[in-house]
Amino acid sequence: MTTERTFSIIKPDATRRNLTGKINAKFESNGLRIVAQKRVRLTQDMAERFYGVHKERPFFKDLVKFMISGPVVVQVLEGTDAVAANRKIMGATNPANADAGTIRKEFAESVEANSVHGSDSLENAKNEIAFFFSEVEIVG
Ligand code: ATP
Ligand code: MG
Repeated sequence: MTTERTFSIIKPDATRRNLTGKINAKFESNGLRIVAQKRVRLTQDMAERFYGVHKERPFFKDLVKFMISGPVVVQVLEGTDAVAANRKIMGATNPANADAGTIRKEFAESVEANSVHGSDSLENAKNEIAFFFSEVEIVG
């Protein structure tokens, strides 16, 4: 059991439906602390760089278009085993396969418009946090 930080995005489908508070309640009631948070509009360049690992995938162009279609909320979440804990709170990528009680099961619209992003490893979490936040913006 280690205290970790992970990176999270509340995606445009969720901000559009005013779900930021309900999603944050899921994090907080499941033991994660929101230690940094800001609402931003991603540029095309930012979205392409952020999802760069997927650039050869057939859904890449649509994914970038979706991620810049409205505001997002970028966050740093802190807690015990935060990377894995957050993936569990989020649920499976495709909401049809997500467990009951997860964010994606309750809120996602589709496999693309799936309400949240969460880092998939501690190393990626560090890089993704540094992409959006400076140290002084993270208050544990
Ligand atoms: P994220 O990285 O956003 O946390 P994830 O790790 O569960 O999600 P990835 O495989 O990294 O899933 O895919 C990144 C994002 O690309 C997904 O969250 C979803 O928005 C979109 N995506 C993934 N697979 C598909 C697909 N088959 N069709 C459309 N969009 C997809
Ligand atoms: Mg991913």
